[in-house]
Amino acid sequence: MAAHQEKKLAQERKHKTTQNDTQTSQVQWGRAWEVDWFSLASILFLLMFAPLIVYYFIMACDQYQCSLTDPIMDLLMGNKRLSDIWNKTPTLTYRAAGIYSLWVAFQVVLYMFIPDFCHKFLPGYVGGLQEGAVTPAGVVNKYEINGLQAWIITHVLWFANAYYFHFFSPTIIFDNWIPLLWCANILGYAVSTFAMIKGYCFPTNAKDCKFTGNFFYDYMMGIEFNPRIGRWFDFKLFFNGRPGIVAWTLINLSYAAKQQELYGQVTNSMILVNVLQGIYVLDFFWNEAWYLKTIDICHDHFGWYLGWGDCVWLPYLYTLQGLYLVYHPVQLGTANAVGILMLGLIGYYIFRVTNHQKDLFRRTDGNCRIWGKKPTYIECSYMSVDGTKYYSKLMTSGFWGWARHFNYTGDLMGSLAYCLACGFAHILPYFYIIYMTILLTHRCIRDEHRCFSKYGKDWKHYTAAVPYRLIPGIF
Ligand code: NDP
Repeated sequence: MAAHQEKKLAQERKHKTTQNDTQTSQVQWGRAWEVDWFSLASILFLLMFAPLIVYYFIMACDQYQCSLTDPIMDLLMGNKRLSDIWNKTPTLTYRAAGIYSLWVAFQVVLYMFIPDFCHKFLPGYVGGLQEGAVTPAGVVNKYEINGLQAWIITHVLWFANAYYFHFFSPTIIFDNWIPLLWCANILGYAVSTFAMIKGYCFPTNAKDCKFTGNFFYDYMMGIEFNPRIGRWFDFKLFFNGRPGIVAWTLINLSYAAKQQELYGQVTNSMILVNVLQGIYVLDFFWNEAWYLKTIDICHDHFGWYLGWGDCVWLPYLYTLQGLYLVYHPVQLGTANAVGILMLGLIGYYIFRVTNHQKDLFRRTDGNCRIWGKKPTYIECSYMSVDGTKYYSKLMTSGFWGWARHFNYTGDLMGSLAYCLACGFAHILPYFYIIYMTILLTHRCIRDEHRCFSKYGKDWKHYTAAVPYRLIPGIF
C-alpha cells in the first residue's frame, strides 16, 4: 500500500516537474546546496581524524591492552616515539588482501546473483523486489532485498567451516585484524573516490546529483543520491548492509573463538555481546525493506561518509566490545548478567516497537490500532518546490506520544547494555554509547530542523503535544 501511494506521488511529482521543467530542472530538497563554515570545519576534521581515531583504538588494543591513555602517556613521558608505535603496527599482508578481496567478492555475488528466496517461506518477512522512497528528483528506485539470505548463507558457511570443514580458523578475523584494517581503508577510499568521479562523469540520475562547489564537502557528503552500476548494483544498499553489517556478527564470533583459544572458555559477557548485537543485526536484515525508508537511504547522498564509514568505521568501532573482551575476559555475576540482558532486550523491544508503530501508522494512513486503540495524530501539510501541497500525519499515540524519538532511546539503551557487559576497568568499550549518544542526538536535532522546515506551524503543534525528544520529562 505504501509503495502504491509513493508510486502515485512519484508519478504526480514527475508530472509537475515536467510541466515546470525550467524552474525545477534541479530539485531543492534533500541535503544542503551550500556549505556553512561549521559544516566545512566538521567535515575537514572528520576527513583528517576519523581514520586516525579508528587506528588509535585498534592499535591501543593491540599494543596497550585496550588502554586509551597509556599510548598518550608513553608519548608524553618520552618512553616511546610515534615511530615506535607505528613500527610495531602490523602492515598490509598478501594474506589479508586475499581474505578481504574474497570476502567482498563473495558478498557481491550473494547480493547480485542470488535472488531472494527467504520471503517465499518466512511468514512476515518482506524481501525480493521492493521500491524505495521517492527521491528528490521524483524517482522511485527498485531494490532486490536479499540481505537476510546473504546473512544466513554466510553464517551457515562460517559454522560449517568452524565445526566441519576446518578450511580456516574461526579466529581468522581477529588474527588479521590490523592488516584487514588497511584493506578496509583501501576499499573505503576507493569507493568514495569512484563515487565522486562517477557523480561528475556518468551519474545514474543527473537530477539527483548535488554539487556545492566545495570539493571536500562533496567528497564527504556525496554528489549522487543513489549511485548504481547497471540496474541493480546499488552502492547505498550494498555498502550500508554488506560487507559491514554481515561482517559485524562474524567479527564477534571470531572474537569469541579467540577467547576460547586463549582461555579455554567463552565468558558470559562475550556471549551477551554476541547475542545482543546479533539480535540488532538480524533485525536490520529482517527489516531491510523498511530501512529503504530511513534517513540513511532517503536523505543522505553517497560519499565518503557512507562509503568509508560503512567499510571502516562500522565494522571496526561497532565491534569494540568483543575486541576488548578478548584482552579482558570479563565473567559477570549472574545478577549483573541478567540485568544487562534485560536492559538490552527492553532497549531492543522499545526500538523495534516504536519503529513498527510509525511504519504501521504511515502504511495504513492512520487506519490501524496502536496499543489497542485508534491512534491520535496531528494533521499536517507541506509544500514541494513546484508549489504542490501535500498532506501528512504525525502520530501522537503509542511510544510516539511519549517522546518524539523514542526509537533512538531504545537504541541507546541497547547500546549501553553492550558496553556495560565489559565492566568498568576501561573507557574503550564505552566509546560506542558515547558515539551513539552524539550521533542520535545530532540526528534528532537535524531531523527536527528538517521537519520544522517541512511542516512549519503543524510541526509546532506536534512538539506542543509531544514536548520531549528522547526521555519523557527530561529532554
Ligand atoms: P525515524 O525512523 O525516527 O524517522 C524520522 C522521520 O519520521 C521524520 O523525518 C518524519 O518524516 C517521520 N516522523 C517523525 N515523527 C513522526 C510521527 N510522530 N509520526 C509519523 N511520522 C513521524 O529516523 P531514522 O531514519 O533516523 O532512524 C531509523 C532507526 O534507525 C532508528 O530506530 C534509529 O535508532 C536507527 N539508527 C541506527 C543507527 C546506528 O548506527 N546503529 C544510525 C541511525 C539510525 P516525514 O518527513 O515522513 O514526516
